[in-house]
Amino acid sequence: MKFRSTLGQAPMVGFCEALLQGIAPDGGLYVPERFPSVQLTDFADARTPAQVGAIMLAPFARGSELEASLPVICQEAFSFPIPLKRIPSDSGPLHVLELFHGPTAAFKDVGARFLAACFERLNSKQQAPLTILVATSGDTGGAVAAAFHGRANTRVVVLFPKGLVSGRQEKQLCCWGDNVLSLRVNGNFDDCQRMVKEAFADTGLNQSVRLSSANSINLGRLLPQAVYYAAASLNYWRGSGEKLNFVIPTGNLGNGQACVWARTMGFPIGKIVFATNENRPIPDYLETGNWSPGASIATLASAMDVGNPSNMERLRDLLPGVELMREAVSAYPVSDEEIRRQISRDEVARGETWCPHTATAAHVYDGFSDSDKAQSWALVATAHPAKFETIVEPLVGHPVEIPDALARLLDLPTHLSDIEPDLEALINALK
Ligand SMILES: *Cc1c(COP(=O)(O)O)cnc(C)c1O
Repeated sequence: MKFRSTLGQAPMVGFCEALLQGIAPDGGLYVPERFPSVQLTDFADARTPAQVGAIMLAPFARGSELEASLPVICQEAFSFPIPLKRIPSDSGPLHVLELFHGPTAAFKDVGARFLAACFERLNSKQQAPLTILVATSGDTGGAVAAAFHGRANTRVVVLFPKGLVSGRQEKQLCCWGDNVLSLRVNGNFDDCQRMVKEAFADTGLNQSVRLSSANSINLGRLLPQAVYYAAASLNYWRGSGEKLNFVIPTGNLGNGQACVWARTMGFPIGKIVFATNENRPIPDYLETGNWSPGASIATLASAMDVGNPSNMERLRDLLPGVELMREAVSAYPVSDEEIRRQISRDEVARGETWCPHTATAAHVYDGFSDSDKAQSWALVATAHPAKFETIVEPLVGHPVEIPDALARLLDLPTHLSDIEPDLEALINALK
């Protein structure tokens, strides 16, 4: 399969080139030249995400260097459970799709692990390691570092702003060592992003170091995310004969996009609803038809603080015009006050402790009409509440138990270097 740029000004590329390039040379995002339609009978023996992924993603990797390794890559990416858990409801069947059982306790582990498994293999014949540069304000850097740690032929360099990530997040970024270099930048997140951009543009550096990125617009992170929606909907449909509807906490629209892609391919997915925080360009677009991204607003659901969701370009490419998009998806904003109330209330009412992101989905569900609630729904839980303990614990009135995988990371020694916010400091650290 070939992939084209959403801007249409760059040549089509194969699967591996799309992964390695991240963004197309014209500045557009890579999308499949067409979506394969699946036959559900092909999945008769597939139950786990790893099994579903090996079949579902095969058309995308066909003809590429990674085609034969795809089943093993899927096993490496989906090495932890992704349960669809039934929870109490007064209406139709309600579930939580828990995406937080990976090493860094957020859904970003899936995409990061898939990409790392691909990059290790793509680089195996090269002498020099591939250096992955990531600027992070929290979850992404930890997931990418965890995914690439110990992988041959690769090195990860994480840049994060000093004093602007939580204590537990900093620990997740700095507990690795070996092929992970953690750089604490004496600046803010914009400085970190600018340094990464400048590094990619620096000719001298690119001659001595092979650079690549792992940010959330990379196709190698989106495609595996479609797999857990496919697997969950397939298993649900087998058991009940019903389509599963999803409410998805949404920021940059990578996770939500992946669900739309899975439904486009023919998996038994019903409605798709995005829950955002006060950063509301997506709900505003669906309401008014005007796309007006803005600066990001800081909220309690900080991993969704995106004022200009870059993956919207892909969704508009698939569903041109607001009418088509309104038929396909809906989106509702949730305020910080509503997030707080939802976390406190559901601790008692549903016996569930939500992270602030997942709470947006629960809030949006509670606002549905009775006829909508009568259908089968899954709230998508994007992170474990223990990652956001300073917000969640005062609201629920007790300590949140830390999952074992996360607890292990918090006990490891710290490896980090402090650097100034300029390219020269980054180049020195890379050498
Ligand atoms: C990244 C993230 C989101 C937002 O996902 P997008 O793909 O950017 O829409 C939601 N919740 C958590 C916990 C995240 O880390």
